[in-house]
Amino acid sequence: MQQPTVSYTGHPHLLAVLDDAPRHAPPCNECGRPCDSPPVFRCARCDFNLHLLCGPLPTTIELDEFPGDPFSLADSFAEDDSGEYYCDFCEDKRDPRECVYHSGDYYFVHFKCAMSEVLRSLKGERGDVDLRTLGKLIPGRVVSKGLNSQTTAQWEKQITESTLTLKDIYDSLTENELMEFKNLSIPSADISSDYATSFPYSGDAFKQLLDRLDAVTLPWEELIKLYNLDTKVVDVGEHQITWDFANIMDTLLRKHKDLIAESRLSPKVKTFMFVLLCDVVYSMSRTKIEDVTEQMLMDWWGRLKVVQRANFRMQLVRDQLTIVVSAYFGLAANKFNERATADLDEQIDKLSKELEQVRENREQHQKLVESASTIIEKCLDDASALSYKTVGADLL
Ligand SMILES: [Zn+2]
Ligand SMILES: [Zn+2]
Ligand SMILES: [Zn+2]
Repeated sequence: MQQPTVSYTGHPHLLAVLDDAPRHAPPCNECGRPCDSPPVFRCARCDFNLHLLCGPLPTTIELDEFPGDPFSLADSFAEDDSGEYYCDFCEDKRDPRECVYHSGDYYFVHFKCAMSEVLRSLKGERGDVDLRTLGKLIPGRVVSKGLNSQTTAQWEKQITESTLTLKDIYDSLTENELMEFKNLSIPSADISSDYATSFPYSGDAFKQLLDRLDAVTLPWEELIKLYNLDTKVVDVGEHQITWDFANIMDTLLRKHKDLIAESRLSPKVKTFMFVLLCDVVYSMSRTKIEDVTEQMLMDWWGRLKVVQRANFRMQLVRDQLTIVVSAYFGLAANKFNERATADLDEQIDKLSKELEQVRENREQHQKLVESASTIIEKCLDDASALSYKTVGADLL
């Protein structure tokens, strides 16, 4: 039985890397397709499974064949525009759209050719290693030894043994604490929303998007509904959080040591703020920029506003979200413009075809006229003989 070694913010328990796929080929918790080909990541207690490529991979590895050159993971890599790319390990071609381990612009190794080293890293044979998933950039770490595996083991113990849920914490809030919590919500305000602009992606439109975000509200009734109160709670350091976010919070606190330095909230209300923050950070780390919608932005922004009202120091998250908003606007504008241009092209195409048809009809008509020209000319002679007269004039 392979020891669990992989700590991953997408799951609160350590994951094991298995050389055999589970016999029942359970669906992958990331992509939904069956995990029927090894190796796979697995948490046996939750039946949580990930394909190797759907899970966290070493951000760097070393390969015996290239001593001294650390190789980094890239989601895709085309080092030039030659159109032909090779693996320096097996010397076969490689698809530049597939993930690759590379050392600068010089050496490239197929993921499959680096696989045995990847597995050694994931199984802890290379000590502690930083991990990340492809595309979505969810972080993780290999825990070969030390504190973190103890922490994770502690959470596992707490989840099994403790019955403490978020609801217990909520029910134990004093009147003052409840008031403190309620005061963090953002009541609705009446804001006139007249957003008509001639072009939906102008500078004005961008300002209006920012205004809409700034005006976002999260009234108490909606705020409290964001929590699944039945979720079990575990300790992370001196704080408490729902078990599903334990790993994320641990990572956040490690990275942002002064996160709550200025917050004067009571510990129980802090728990509720941590859940909100971890939820946003996790949701953002799973979403690719091209999948972002305005609704998501509103949702993230609203939650962050609440956490900010709690005096959590999270400028980094705010800054990141500001960049996401601007990137979203740019991509949405591009999509809109492409669609509008395509629509107009289609109209031009349709009208051109109609015009062509009318021209053809005219030509057809001209031919018919020409084919009848002898008889028409003869008849016109008679017509000119009758000009300036009434048609019965010669009869009298
Ligand atoms: Zn998968
Ligand atoms: Zn689990
Ligand atoms: Zn290769």
